[in-house]
Amino acid sequence: MTNPSADHRPVVRAVPHPGELDAHGIPITCAYCRARRDWLLLNVRQQVFVRCRCAHEWHEPDLTRAYFDQHFTEAEHEWADYDTAMRALAFDGLLAGATWA
Ligand SMILES: [Zn+2]
Repeated sequence: MTNPSADHRPVVRAVPHPGELDAHGIPITCAYCRARRDWLLLNVRQQVFVRCRCAHEWHEPDLTRAYFDQHFTEAEHEWADYDTAMRALAFDGLLAGATWA
C-alpha cells in the first residue's frame, strides 16, 4: 500500500483575506451569498480558489499561482489534506452569514 500522504509537501495553502479583494479592479463577490469580503484564499497545486464563509467556493482564474506566491508568501496554514484544512479553518459552512467586524 502506498500512502498518499507520504509526500509531505503541502497540498493546500490557505491565507485568510478579511478585506475586499479586487485582482482586476472589481471586488470579488460571492455568487451565492453576495459577500464582498472575508475570503479564504486557497492555493491548491497550480490553481487558486476563493472560498466564502458560506462554504461557496470557486476557482478564480484571475488569481494565479504567481499572484498567490507574490502576495501571500507567508501562508498562515498548510495542510496535506483538503478536508482537514476546511474543518480547521471553520470554512465548512457552519459560520455562513457570520459577520466579522
Ligand atoms: Zn458566500
